[in-house]
Amino acid sequence: MGLSEFQLIERFFVRNARYDGSVDLGIGDDAALISVNPGQSLAVTTDTLVEGVHFFSGANPESLGHKALAVNLSDLAAMGAEPRWASLALTLPQSDPSWLSGFAQGLFELADVWAVRLIGGDTTQGPRSITVHAMGTVPKGDALLRSGARPGDVIYLTGSVGDAGLGLMTERKEAECGDDAVLRRLHRPDPRIAVGLRLRGLATACIDVSDGLAADLGHVLRLSQVGAVIDWHALPLSAAVKAYVDETGDWELPLRCGDDYELCFTVAAADVATLEARLAGLPDPCTRIGSINGSGTLDVVRDSGAMEFPLSGYEHFS
Ligand code: ADP
Ligand code: MG
Repeated sequence: MGLSEFQLIERFFVRNARYDGSVDLGIGDDAALISVNPGQSLAVTTDTLVEGVHFFSGANPESLGHKALAVNLSDLAAMGAEPRWASLALTLPQSDPSWLSGFAQGLFELADVWAVRLIGGDTTQGPRSITVHAMGTVPKGDALLRSGARPGDVIYLTGSVGDAGLGLMTERKEAECGDDAVLRRLHRPDPRIAVGLRLRGLATACIDVSDGLAADLGHVLRLSQVGAVIDWHALPLSAAVKAYVDETGDWELPLRCGDDYELCFTVAAADVATLEARLAGLPDPCTRIGSINGSGTLDVVRDSGAMEFPLSGYEHFS
């Protein structure tokens, strides 16, 4: 038996846990009320996952709950913001308690890691679609923008790239990969919040890799009006992606594929030691992959020489 709209909200999404005094009014009224301290900017972001576009029908609900929040927290990480509040607009074909229970579990497990409070949302019937709206705070003037990279800056990347792309190709039977880790990267991205927080006041530009490294670094290059050189051999690749590239010769995969939710950021060459000291205590690995120049293009250097790489990624409606 399906639940009614209000039973569903009450059973799966209302929680009394209070992490701080910032929520003046949570779920239950026409709007939530939150207090933001003066001196802080509110960072606000929204991402939607649509069945058949962002996930297959029949996808694991727990992973969807995790991912719907994770992709938003990744945007906040890329701004150097501390995640605080989220709302959830859920459209479902039917109110299936076992699906909802898994979804809520995946969502709240990640929310609890970062003390994010679900403060409201909307619930409607229709083709399955999940929209999370996340908000965080960052001291005024400290947010990490896409527009600040300067020639001479060093480019860094967290974690590894290409895994989610290989995971997606594996699910679509376009590639064979015996390593489940790539599927985990696709379905359970880990937002690099701790890194983002430590980049405040230090990184000159930052972006999260959702559309592919070339496309997302491309946004930084365009908005900063600069170019870049990347050393392909310095790219952090997992064993599975390395094996795939060796077997297929598809060396572009780590540059082309998205959904890894790593951070790509730049720092002035003079600040490299400070940066590495700040990141030293974190579990998230960071790798130096290239540098910013004035060329206006993205050039990739491999054994076989340097070549200009297209800055395109996945675009809806194209
Ligand atoms: P309204 O009709 O005023 O938009 P709703 O009846 O849609 O309000 O929602 C009632 C309350 O439940 C609101 O506080 C809303 O924010 C919250 N809510 C609705 N759906 C969700 C959801 N999926 N997750 C969390 N809160 C929700
Ligand atoms: Mg409503």
